Amino acid sequence: MIGAVDIGGTKLALGVVDDHGRVLEKDEVPTNVGRGFDHAMQEIGTLLRGCAARAGVKLLGIGIGCTGQVDAVTGTLGEVHNLPGWKGGNPVLSLSRQFGVPVALENDADAAALGERYWGSGKSRTPMIYVTVGTGIGVSVILDGKIYRGAGQCHPEIGHQVIDPAGPLCTCGVRGCWESLASGPAMVAWVEDHVPKSYPREGLTAREVCSRAEAGDEWAGRAVEHVGYYLAVGLANLVNIFAPQTVALAGSVMKSAPLFLDRIREVVQQNCKLVPHEGIEITLASLGPDGGLMGAAQVWHHRFERCGGRIE
Ligand SMILES: [Zn+2]
Repeated sequence: MIGAVDIGGTKLALGVVDDHGRVLEKDEVPTNVGRGFDHAMQEIGTLLRGCAARAGVKLLGIGIGCTGQVDAVTGTLGEVHNLPGWKGGNPVLSLSRQFGVPVALENDADAAALGERYWGSGKSRTPMIYVTVGTGIGVSVILDGKIYRGAGQCHPEIGHQVIDPAGPLCTCGVRGCWESLASGPAMVAWVEDHVPKSYPREGLTAREVCSRAEAGDEWAGRAVEHVGYYLAVGLANLVNIFAPQTVALAGSVMKSAPLFLDRIREVVQQNCKLVPHEGIEITLASLGPDGGLMGAAQVWHHRFERCGGRIE
């Protein structure tokens, strides 16, 4: 029985997950960033003890998935855009002190990818690439059943591959990164830059652009076409580089996946003729709302069962 903790900018979710990926008990609370990191860790500890008591189990370990830049080796949080003031906090130390069990932490894209690889659409289909498209683009690559890491065991920043050097300025300071062209905010920005003055712009979010496109709105349809093309080009690059068996797509923009999937498959077919592209499964992440917790539990299994507690 593993304690699972999913730390996000808007909510902290936690639960107890058994070794078949079943979530036995869970709880969640809004992330009160302003009260600080230590307060959040105490709150997580209290709620997690409650979950374990209700499930009638003793936790063997705790796995954590956390938004933003995190150091999987030391367990410390980096500069996380939506957790201001939490930099340097260490959820691994805090929870291992509170519970006296081994704890492991990964970036939330890597955590979700592990959940998907072992309990979802990536089952026994590797290499697998997991791509989450929302406010930004997060990517995790699973090779030989393990998280692919870069130098210093870092998480590669594939969302910042440059797709168009003359493209819009990205939050990282470079022009034309994939996430500046193909994320939710990119879709809204395209609409704002291109529509006539008379076009209704109030309450325009990526969700809203997608629903307008689904309802046949011409400008929203063009925004989806534009963003969908760049999303597809970035994915095709990954297919050429890694020749995966499965590409699993997740994130808020993929709630409107039917708007994008045909285009993605078409561009992958066109751009990836030199790798075995016909067998590639381009699919949606299958774990649903508990995916974050299942992924967090997999962080523990991955670290302590498959990697012997080490980071490889
Ligand atoms: Zn960038």
